[in-house]
Formats: sequence, C-alpha cells, structure tokens
Amino acid sequence: MDSIKRILITKQGRKFYAKDLEQDLHTQYGFVKKEDLKKSKEGDVIKSNTEKEFFIFEPSFIDLYRKIKRDAQIIPLKDIGYIIAETGINKESRILDAGAGSGALSCFLASIAKEVVTYEIREDFIEIVKKNIEFLGLKNIKIKNKNVYNEIEEKEMDVMTLDVPEPWNAIDNCAKALKSGGFIVSYSPSVPQVADFVNAIRKNESFVYIKTVEISEREWEVEERKVRPKSRGLGLSGFLSFAMKVTN
Ligand code: SAH
Repeated sequence: MDSIKRILITKQGRKFYAKDLEQDLHTQYGFVKKEDLKKSKEGDVIKSNTEKEFFIFEPSFIDLYRKIKRDAQIIPLKDIGYIIAETGINKESRILDAGAGSGALSCFLASIAKEVVTYEIREDFIEIVKKNIEFLGLKNIKIKNKNVYNEIEEKEMDVMTLDVPEPWNAIDNCAKALKSGGFIVSYSPSVPQVADFVNAIRKNESFVYIKTVEISEREWEVEERKVRPKSRGLGLSGFLSFAMKVTN
C-alpha cells in the first residue's frame, strides 16, 4: 500500500488523498498542481486550477486507520472506544487480541497501548495484517499464526480481546495468560454466542462476570434548523461481554 503524503479537505468536508507528490492531484473540483502539493505544509490552503480551496493536512493515525485494508468484518470505532474506556487501556497496557482478522482492533489498540500480540489462524489474513501494521507504522505489535483455543504463550497480560466464533473455548487459556485484575472482552455478533460465553465465564472460578452491552450509535443530520436522525436504521454490530480475572 502506498503511504498517504497529504490530505486535502474542502470546507464542505470532502477529503482527497495525495499519495504521490510528483503528480498533479485530480479531483472533482479540478486539479491541484504537484508543485503546490510538494511545497504545502500542514495548515496551508491551496487552490485547484478552478480556484477551489483545500486545507492541507499531514495524515494522523486516525486518517490512516480509516484507509487500512479490511477483509474480515472489523470492529466498529464505537465498540473500540467502549472497550478502551471500560478496561482502562493505556500506555502501560499489554494486550492479547484474537483473531486478528484485518488487524483493525489490534492496530487501534497498539496505537495507545504498550504492546499488542495478536493471534490469527488464517495465513491470508496474516498478510493483510502485516500490510496494515506497516502502513500505520506501528512497532509494538506482533502477529502470531496460532489458534487461541489451543494455547496462549503470553503471561501477565492486562487485557485479552476475543473476536472469534467460539470464545468460550479460549476462556481457560485466557485465565492462564491474564494477570489478576486483568480483563477478558469478547465481541460476538449473535445472541447464542453471548449466552454460551457468559455461561462459561460464570462457571469458571478464575473470573467474575461484569456485563454484556450493545453500543448503539445514531448519527444526526443538522441542516440549519432541520435537525433529525439520519434515516438509515440502527444496525447491530455486536455484543461486548466483559469479565475480570480474580485468582492467580
Ligand atoms: N477484530 C478483528 C476482526 C476479527 S474477524 C478486526 O477488528 O479486524 C475473526 C478472525 O478470527 C478471522 O480472521 C478468523 O480467521 C480468526 N479466528 C477464528 N478462530 C480463531 C482461533 N481459534 N484462533 C485465532 N484466530 C481465529
């Protein structure tokens, strides 16, 4: 994947990405000359040949994150935000994530945590994750071609995030890999998965079950005084179940 060198944004919020500063950038509002792109700095305003104005930015983590390759179903930002807030993930945290999928959750967590290790059974996904890690320039994330149901090598982890079809099969391994006071978070799209996971957590003496939540997000349209919910319905992404490891 080519890296993004500059982001151009119009007053109306339309974004354009310049990957090559040796070429003019063509947009629906005309083109921006390569000479202008090359000498542009963050905060500058440059004009296209049709006099349209663009604000210039260098890409930040979230700009790049929005452009990563995504083949598996990735966890939406609203759910990532909740996982971070609920478990208190911070720059000291060591996290194990499985399965990696496209690596969206792992990469986001790596951008704020000390270290992330992610397990993935499919080699084709591992290739995608590697590209995404490189594209984002992350150095504190390791990907392992391992099955989280079989074994977890890491110890004393602060948080384990599971986005696998049968998360209950990983609970015993998680108990060994987590430090006491650490969290297990399971993300599942369906109700039977939630039931089986939570029932298994309740039976396991290493864990105290905390809660299961569904985070719903509704965007609103604001046009002058016409303010109303965007018409698209509220979709379901998945349920988040949280438990805490209590014994050593
Ligand atoms: N959370 C990810 C998406 C995960 S999709 C993201 O935000 O991008 C689920 C992934 O789990 C798939 O890639 C699948 O191959 C992987 N997987 C399924 N079972 C697994 C297991 N037992 N161990 C490790 N990975 C597994």
